[in-house]
Amino acid sequence: MSSTLRDLMGAYADEAERCIRCGFCNSVCPTTLSSIGHIPSRTSRGRLVLLQSSLNNGTPHPFTPRFKELIDLCIGCLRCLNVCPARIPIPTVMSSYRRAYIIAVGEKMLSRGERMVAHYEPIVKYLSRAPAPLRKILLGKPLLQLFRRIGEFADDAPLPIPEGGALDKYFKKNAPRPGHRTLAYFSDTYARFVKPSVGISARELLRTAGIELTYPRQYDSGVILWELGFWERVAKLAARNVDSLFEEVEKGRRILCTSPASTLMLREVYPKLLDNEKSRTVSEAVVDINELINGLVESGRLSANLSGFSPILHSTCLSQHLNLTGQIAEAFEKLGAHIEGVVTECCGSGGLWGLFRKNRKLSTEIGGILLKRLGPGDTVLSYSETCAQQVISLTHGKKAVHLPHEALYNWVKRAITQYQAVHISQAS
Ligand code: SF4
Ligand code: SF4
Repeated sequence: MSSTLRDLMGAYADEAERCIRCGFCNSVCPTTLSSIGHIPSRTSRGRLVLLQSSLNNGTPHPFTPRFKELIDLCIGCLRCLNVCPARIPIPTVMSSYRRAYIIAVGEKMLSRGERMVAHYEPIVKYLSRAPAPLRKILLGKPLLQLFRRIGEFADDAPLPIPEGGALDKYFKKNAPRPGHRTLAYFSDTYARFVKPSVGISARELLRTAGIELTYPRQYDSGVILWELGFWERVAKLAARNVDSLFEEVEKGRRILCTSPASTLMLREVYPKLLDNEKSRTVSEAVVDINELINGLVESGRLSANLSGFSPILHSTCLSQHLNLTGQIAEAFEKLGAHIEGVVTECCGSGGLWGLFRKNRKLSTEIGGILLKRLGPGDTVLSYSETCAQQVISLTHGKKAVHLPHEALYNWVKRAITQYQAVHISQAS
């Protein structure tokens, strides 16, 4: 059995074996720093020890639900990457185990919720396109409750409910103005089918700085499938996305991402997974919306007066990994905002992990530590839609949580409206 796990994990089995059991990863791991962290097998270090034991001795048996449950306590926050002296790609090792599990026991052995989440893209795509009356029925309380029960989602979990409409249609109607600098926008599934307003606000904000967006052919980034262990499916999506985005890069365009997950996938995961020149070229062309905004503010091409705006900045796990927190803070402060504080704790959502009933209690406990740090301020900037939804849900809607570019666009829009109001009243 141990040789099977070794065969299936390949190079990542060797990575697990390099662990020197120092426990440094425990000091930053959100699930380890919770009330279950005193149980060795439920810590980050414990998961590595477990894998080593299974790889070398065949015990415990690696392909049991109990074993997988322990591995699934890694929520993929990437915080441990900075502290591991052996430089082990810990979350990828865990994802590699999940891939091995699926191959060994079959997809049917995954929980109902995991199997549903593996089809997240077609589900939200269908809902976003359903006529409004049908969507109202499908997303009404009774069917939503049923959906939660079937998918084993917690009753209070903030599910990604499509607001209606899709970005494809919007961009078809709103072609780029000629003669302007143009970027190709990779929106990913959330902005595409769940909350198109994320993409619309990005486009409108960038237009004020003279930048236009094209919307190339694209597919789900595969970030959820990646975490679940469906690597072969991710590789197919990656190849299709890279083919399409490479054409844009050849036209001299950079690739804009408005979610940290898609920046991560295009910039780091695709080149590793595909290991070809095209994916490396696309990776180098990626610009995250926060990097872009900071650059535009620096060069004076994007301006706004944010004096009087005092948000708290939530430095999300992926923002930290991608070094984006400083970019966001810098841009807002240059525009006159006063960042009331920066909080670095994990919100406990772990992508979609915190939505499952079996994880919700722990997810809420982890998020509770963040809430205490947020203080009484009303407005929070959080660069991750799932983190934003988690904070809104945990505070029962008492905190306004915005993506940074959306918050900025709201200020710019307000200034434009005020300007127009003054000029129209002067003219009349
Ligand atoms: S990725 Fe996050 S949850 Fe997973 S072991 Fe590292 S610190 Fe813990
Ligand atoms: S920090 Fe790295 S080497 Fe140390 S216990 Fe964690 S995985 Fe092992």
